[in-house]
Amino acid sequence: MPASITRNLITGGAGFLGSHLCDRLMDAGEEVICLDNYFTGRKANISQWIGHPRFDLIRHDVTEPIKLEVDRIWHLACPASPVHYQFNPIKTAKTSFLGTYNMLGLARRVGARLLLASTSEVYGDPELHPQPESYRGCVNTIGIRSCYDEGKRIAETLCFDYQRMHGTEIRVMRIFNTYGPRMLPDDGRVVSNFIVQALRGEPLTLYGDGSQTRSFCYVDDLVEGMIRLMNGDHCGPINIGNPGEFTIRQLAELIRAKVNPQVELIEKPLPQDDPLQRQPVIALAQRELGWQPSVSLEQGLEPTIAYFQQLLQAAASGGH
Ligand code: NAD
Ligand code: UDP
Repeated sequence: MPASITRNLITGGAGFLGSHLCDRLMDAGEEVICLDNYFTGRKANISQWIGHPRFDLIRHDVTEPIKLEVDRIWHLACPASPVHYQFNPIKTAKTSFLGTYNMLGLARRVGARLLLASTSEVYGDPELHPQPESYRGCVNTIGIRSCYDEGKRIAETLCFDYQRMHGTEIRVMRIFNTYGPRMLPDDGRVVSNFIVQALRGEPLTLYGDGSQTRSFCYVDDLVEGMIRLMNGDHCGPINIGNPGEFTIRQLAELIRAKVNPQVELIEKPLPQDDPLQRQPVIALAQRELGWQPSVSLEQGLEPTIAYFQQLLQAAASGGH
């Protein structure tokens, strides 16, 4: 293997975003080590690469150290859906802190550049709208979302302390709600929930009155931004998301119209600390990375709906 091929480690590589990143790097002719503990990831997401000479798969938990020779670390390992990250909140905090600490230690030892998949959740329930990177956030330290939000905040802190103390090359990306094929049908996040409910002819579950907002980015746009950040000179933190803002009720109505106009919308209690609004300012990404999203919500929902349609049909016919 020529030495010039970039060796990538993708933690959380069997998950939703990680598996799309695997595809992009493999298609670019690079080497990929996909590391995952399969908490929310699935081998099916990366099965197309198993056995390929440039692809390795490692079952490992990032809360434990690991020694590998790599040039780039894409650190995505962490459950992202509230349902999953609240399942064992202490484990989520450990994954964010110890996982990032272990990966930064590895990056330092081998001189690799590390990209952290941080989140818009570092802004908490924001008092400033839309959110630029300079906004410091409004996060509850003791609520049910804190294991994730504060976990990502300390992960960002660790990155910048490794940069200051050891000169480690870091890239910090604040990801806003991203959706697309390969989300789990029982993932619990809103886009997959609504599509799966509509396909099954079940009512769409609005938490609260559905007036809270989110800004939804299609996975291909997100991965393009992630690659530009890793390859560029700007270390971040940098918002990557689609500024198109929708209420959750608007999203439900859009999905209902596309999938199954017969289904009802029903209201369920709003979970504690659920942010009321969220929209990225992406001026920094536009300036520093020449990046902006190109896929509208309407466009991105099409392949996402098609994916879940196929998945549910395969499950109904006894496939996987
Ligand atoms: P996901 O749940 O599909 O992927 C996370 C992956 O990490 C899974 O494959 C899971 O098995 C793995 N993982 C979890 N804990 C691990 C551990 N301790 N050791 C090893 N592997 C572990 O979620 P995703 O949407 O692909 O998110 C990927 C990253 O992007 C996460 O860090 C998440 O916080 C961040 N992010 C995602 C979004 C989004 O909207 N998708 C938004 C903000 C931030
Ligand atoms: N949501 C909802 N119904 C669902 C799932 C989620 O109304 O079945 C709401 C949720 O309360 C939140 C928004 O949709 O206001 C986005 O939720 P998600 O879990 O996708 O992401 P996050 O809250 O982390 O942004």
